[in-house]
Amino acid sequence: MVKICCIGAGYVGGPTMAVIALKCPAIEVAVVDISVSRINAWNSEQLPIYEPGLEDVVKQCRGKNLFFSTDVEKHVSEADIVFVSVNTPTKTQGLGAGKAADLTYWESAARMIADVSKSDKIVVEKSTVPVKTAEAIEKILTHNSKKINFQILSNPEFLAEGTAIQDLFNPDRVLIGGRETPEGAKAIQALKDVYAHWVPVERIICTNLWSAELSKLAANAFLAQRISSVNAMSALCEATGADVTQVSHAVGKDSRIGPKFLNASVGFGGSCFQKDILNLVYICECNGLPEVANYWKQVIKVNDYQKTRFVNRVVSSMFNTVSGKKIAILGFAFKKDTGDTRETPAIDVCKGLLGDKAQLSIYDPQVSEDQIKRDLSMKKFDWDHPVHLQSADPTSITQVSVVGDAYEATKGAHGICILTEWDEFRKLDYQRIFYNMQKPAFVFDGRNVVDVEKLREIGFIVYSIGKPLDS
Ligand code: NAD
Repeated sequence: MVKICCIGAGYVGGPTMAVIALKCPAIEVAVVDISVSRINAWNSEQLPIYEPGLEDVVKQCRGKNLFFSTDVEKHVSEADIVFVSVNTPTKTQGLGAGKAADLTYWESAARMIADVSKSDKIVVEKSTVPVKTAEAIEKILTHNSKKINFQILSNPEFLAEGTAIQDLFNPDRVLIGGRETPEGAKAIQALKDVYAHWVPVERIICTNLWSAELSKLAANAFLAQRISSVNAMSALCEATGADVTQVSHAVGKDSRIGPKFLNASVGFGGSCFQKDILNLVYICECNGLPEVANYWKQVIKVNDYQKTRFVNRVVSSMFNTVSGKKIAILGFAFKKDTGDTRETPAIDVCKGLLGDKAQLSIYDPQVSEDQIKRDLSMKKFDWDHPVHLQSADPTSITQVSVVGDAYEATKGAHGICILTEWDEFRKLDYQRIFYNMQKPAFVFDGRNVVDVEKLREIGFIVYSIGKPLDS
């Protein structure tokens, strides 16, 4: 029986391994993590992450051929294939701080693999890493464990949070990069055999190591760039009377462009886009390509600008001050169908409003009060130039209450900011909400989810990203 071990039971490691276990009943899959609470949660009824369809997959295989454990060394030593899916955040200090990937978790995982391995292994980069990381990993493994043959593969993950299970069941492609040697080819084939249980072979792309590593950074940079492009257009739409939804529709009809990822919003978030572009920027700078670095930097700058623009719009619309005013924040997660708040634009928007002394009443169906308060009390890391948002003073956290539904959040509020596109925000009884708000009642829709005309008919003053302004 082939044995797989995955180091890192997070948003990627957990769902990816659960799907491998489901699709390959003859493979034993162990997901290991140093976090005891995370592993306990994976072994409980309350999984550590919210992802539609995940619970069902885990229930079908847990205890049969899918195991979650903190016994990292045992499972790594027994495995034929070791995936490494640890976090690779942006470095916060030292060389490359604010841009380069922090590979300390990766390095310690690699050293541990070398220490405990007694048989040959395929080591798979599942985390997103800088191009050329495999070279460093090879050095760490081979210098620390001379008798073992390690083959390093790059197999970046392209799932999106909120649709992870769907994406894993039916991926656009699976990418496997390896050494162009007979041993490398054998390792690629072994991993290909795993995915071939459910992924059509024509969707499994095999490349050299560096192409696979760089493709993941490139894909995230292209996706984020589309969002910044449409968000840059949204600012121009507001200035000219064009409607960004109509512009996106017209532009997306061009088959060379396509309709996806053209929704204007308050900005992208999530743990990956910003981190991976910063990483790309750093790699370009290290390779003597400052113009290319500046090109990609702009994607993040536009994203920061979009958040600032939103906050400024809220404050200026509400007679140039939100001091003491109750503002309902609907949605805190970085997108719908996830409870993940990493780099969510809601953090910067809330901090901007708190900086102007607003009282915030926050509701998100999947994010806890603890998480929201933790996020809002953290200092924002200044990656290049300061983001032009006033950062919240930590004591301003007393200006925040987290409530259990949208009606409570909006009761007595002067304004509403919609920051996540949860489906339930489309279906709210806005007539009832209007009745219970201060007047004039404002709605600032950062995700274009409300029916602007309908809300204006009710009596709201509505601002929706990239839409013609209320007269
Ligand atoms: P995460 O923080 O949710 O999970 C990482 C896990 O690794 C944590 O539980 C941590 O405790 C564990 N870990 C760290 N060092 C360890 C060690 N030495 N031994 C055992 N466990 C260890 O991160 P994530 O969102 O799953 O992302 C993982 C990687 O995948 C990152 O490189 C990320 O960029 C990439 N990625 C993420 C997504 C996404 O949507 N989240 C999508 C594609 C790729």
